[in-house]
Amino acid sequence: MKAIGKLGLIAFVFWTSTTNILAQNTVQHIFGGHFLDVHEDRMEKNVLISVQNGRIIALTRNPDLSKYDDFIDLSEYTLLPGLIDCHTHLTDPSFDKTKDVYELPIASYGILGAKYAKQTLQAGFTTVRDVGADFYVDIALRDAINKNWIEGPRMYVSGKAITMTGGHGVWANWMAPQFRLEPNPGNPVDGALEVRKRARTLIKNGVNLLKINATGGFGTSNSIPGAASFTIEEMKAAVEEANKRGIKVAAHSHGADGIKNAVKAGVNSIEHGTFLDHEAVDLIKEHNVFLVMDLLAAYVSLMEMNEDISDKGITKNNQELYEDFAEKFGFAYKQGVKMAFGSDASIYEHGRNAEQFKLMRDAGMKPIDILKSVTINAAELIGIEKNTGSIDVGKWADIIGVKGNPLDDIQVLENVDFVMKEGIIYKSK
Ligand SMILES: [Zn+2]
Repeated sequence: MKAIGKLGLIAFVFWTSTTNILAQNTVQHIFGGHFLDVHEDRMEKNVLISVQNGRIIALTRNPDLSKYDDFIDLSEYTLLPGLIDCHTHLTDPSFDKTKDVYELPIASYGILGAKYAKQTLQAGFTTVRDVGADFYVDIALRDAINKNWIEGPRMYVSGKAITMTGGHGVWANWMAPQFRLEPNPGNPVDGALEVRKRARTLIKNGVNLLKINATGGFGTSNSIPGAASFTIEEMKAAVEEANKRGIKVAAHSHGADGIKNAVKAGVNSIEHGTFLDHEAVDLIKEHNVFLVMDLLAAYVSLMEMNEDISDKGITKNNQELYEDFAEKFGFAYKQGVKMAFGSDASIYEHGRNAEQFKLMRDAGMKPIDILKSVTINAAELIGIEKNTGSIDVGKWADIIGVKGNPLDDIQVLENVDFVMKEGIIYKSK
């Protein structure tokens, strides 16, 4: 038996990606002291995970380690499926107030995206659903990661969100009427026909899902988050085009009316849900729609940065608004709404994603349900549950390791020591 101890792990870190790729068809074994079984809702002890060509080929409970020539010894660690964030903007530097987006050339977004993608992967997130980027930079970043040009999570991307005249995400909404910015794929569309054409254009250009803005938003001037935007009919046009190609639709929605419109139009997920009411929660449940509530983005913008929202038509102060949002999260959870983890990375610095877990816990969610929301539920929302979201034979070898038991202390996930994505080790310490 030759167990790869600490020294062996350090050696792994210095392996280049190429070495790792060459090693793909040989079988690697990883021994974990504990691992999360999302099907049984509990931690299991002593498992040997065998990996070949990026997939898990065997799981051996309580293995006789003397039978194995070498293995990666993570006996001190708890292994979990790679984490999945369903609401990121990996090409967006919004958190950094020193950057003026009107002065950056397009390539800067790609270069920043490469940096943010690496930070996100190093935090244990092996997959993201990226819901809104300008100039198709998200597609370029996704493809660069898939080709192993750079390190990052596997990405499922929407391109620019579909939005209406005066809607959330329209660049330069503040400009005087005589000015207009032409070259941005985010230029607004109005009416079912234009929405349909925009959906077709996005699909033709290679997006994995569509994002549609069902309400106004916080980050856009002259936009009111509580106000509905597209009609049900307009959103149905996008949903129909998505369905034809077997892709899904995410709806940015803060206000209750917009949330209800989006659900009635047939979207797959409600993003934010800031002003959810009981009727909206019932409707979301009835239509089996996922809810993706970004507590961390709300916490950072309202509490840490104390952003000025005085022009957003909200009577509450920032602290009251955050507390109200967390309460709505807890209410929706208790009503049994399907929840997938999403944090709106870009509002806060990329890589802090796991700090949302403690906010979810404080809002009333059980640790096991937090873990499911960021693994198997998130995989189901994206439509990749057959390939990731749990440690199972046949799935991609997306595995992370942490010290301690996240069911006892969810914050241990803020320090991920081991990251494997599809059989390749990206972090090991
Ligand atoms: Zn967002």
